[in-house]
Amino acid sequence: MSTEYDVIVIGGGPAGYPCAIRAGQNKLKVACIDEWQNRDGSYAFGGTCLNAGCIPSKALLESSELFHRAQHEFASHGIGTGAVQIDVAAMQARKGKIVKQSTMGILALFKSAGVTGLQGHGKLIAGNKVEFTAKDGAKQVLSAKHVVLASGSAPMQLKSVPFDGDQVVDSWGALEFGAVPRKVGVIGAGVIGLELGSVWRRLGADVIVLEALENFLPMADGAVAKEALRHFQKQGLDVRLGAKVTGCEKSKDGVLLQFTDAKGAQSVVVEKVVVAIGRRPYTTELLGEGTGVELDERGFVKVDHECRTGAANVWAVGDVVRGPMLAHKGKEEGVVVADLIAGKIGEVNYNLVPSVIYTAPEIAWVGQTEEQVKASGQAYKVGTFPFMASGRARAMEAAAGFCKVIASKDDDQILGVHVIGPMAGELIGEAVLAMEYSASTEDLQRTMHAHPTLSEALHEAALNADKLAIDIPNR
Ligand code: FAD
Ligand code: NAD
Repeated sequence: MSTEYDVIVIGGGPAGYPCAIRAGQNKLKVACIDEWQNRDGSYAFGGTCLNAGCIPSKALLESSELFHRAQHEFASHGIGTGAVQIDVAAMQARKGKIVKQSTMGILALFKSAGVTGLQGHGKLIAGNKVEFTAKDGAKQVLSAKHVVLASGSAPMQLKSVPFDGDQVVDSWGALEFGAVPRKVGVIGAGVIGLELGSVWRRLGADVIVLEALENFLPMADGAVAKEALRHFQKQGLDVRLGAKVTGCEKSKDGVLLQFTDAKGAQSVVVEKVVVAIGRRPYTTELLGEGTGVELDERGFVKVDHECRTGAANVWAVGDVVRGPMLAHKGKEEGVVVADLIAGKIGEVNYNLVPSVIYTAPEIAWVGQTEEQVKASGQAYKVGTFPFMASGRARAMEAAAGFCKVIASKDDDQILGVHVIGPMAGELIGEAVLAMEYSASTEDLQRTMHAHPTLSEALHEAALNADKLAIDIPNR
């Protein structure tokens, strides 16, 4: 094994592995070190996202959505099924297969880009060297002209309800239940709480979601958050806002969760507790003495706008640095850093990081919310279009929600796009591209959209911003 590289990437998640691949494409000699271990002890590249995050959660969201639709929607299509059943073991096996295909795929990608994949622990030590501890415990010092830290994040623990891996679990544990629990208590109505709460609710569990804040989805546009809460409650998610969890008592019958909200002290007995109160940067045993890399007060590696740390030729990308903890944000940073190292041009547009919540209806947005635009004092206009007026959405039996476009009144530039409805995560791609090119609502208005497609809703929302929508009365 070679000990000298142009670039060593520590972490093989969605920030680290694309960085290594792009470095390879840039003809640099690169190694990517990753220590992810699955429950069975096997090592796998792909980090949280592929092994225990984005991919397995979407696999279960798809299975549970199909189960729900078979139970509640097929009849309206004239499809009779008899009693619909869920085989949780088969569902989990399918999920496992998809995860394995994805993580094995990285090895093939590494091979084609000439990346050396090293499984084990990486630690940056003084002099921009990396101490690599292989799976068998053997240590070796590697050197590189550039080191990229991409060590990711880990779930935050709630002191009063500590993880035990069985009754009280993190998101990874909640992706692995072997049977549908009778009742699930989810702590945190963030992205994970809503996605995983939806999975188990659709499969038949009672789900109570305890959220400390009074506001539901405060990062989303207010109108979208309001619409989302209405749908989730209709689906049977028992969302309690302003709920502060104070403690828990465990017995073989379940977990008694204690909390206080506007009604005072309360408690609920659940079979499983999922703690989803956010994630923290993961830097355990990442930095030796005297590396010159600094952490901020919340434990993130300090970087500038180009992901440079305070130490020369040491970079950091993904969840371990500031910004939203999203796979695509990390990927973009990783690729840009690999290009900058190679002397090419690269820049991350942090104003246009799309957010997607993969519930039903799906929620997606890019740019500013109406509340943010209002607070900025800028004159603006809003166009909306309900999916109820979309023939395609009605044909899909998925007509809940709407598209919303916010634009500057002065020059018509699009400032934000918000979608709650079918395939919102796919629809937002058009908005991101439009905004990347500083599009106006007129640009969207004059762009032909195929009929009948869901994308017409975005077109019509842009038209509605100037009271020119065709398929709804303009207000
Ligand atoms: P990670 O994916 O955490 O990867 C870091 C890797 O580095 C890990 O393999 C770790 O073992 C390894 N490592 C750490 N330290 C060392 C070391 N010293 N030596 C060697 N290896 C090390 N984001 C989305 O954009 N869309 C989604 O739909 C989505 N769904 C999610 C669902 C869940 C349940 C969760 C938990 C997260 C989800 N996320 C989603 C967030 C997404 O997973 C993260 O933003 C993303 O994984 C961050 O990528 P990363 O490469 O920075 O870190
Ligand atoms: P989050 O920050 O999205 O939500 C955490 C929620 O928990 C917040 O609403 C917060 O107010 C609440 N909370 C915090 N402390 C609490 C307490 N003591 N009691 C009750 N509620 C409390 O975090 P998450 O849902 O854990 O997700 C972690 C990260 O993973 C996020 O940054 C997210 O971007 C990422 N992720 C993204 C996706 C996606 O893109 N679809 C999916 C899953 C996760």
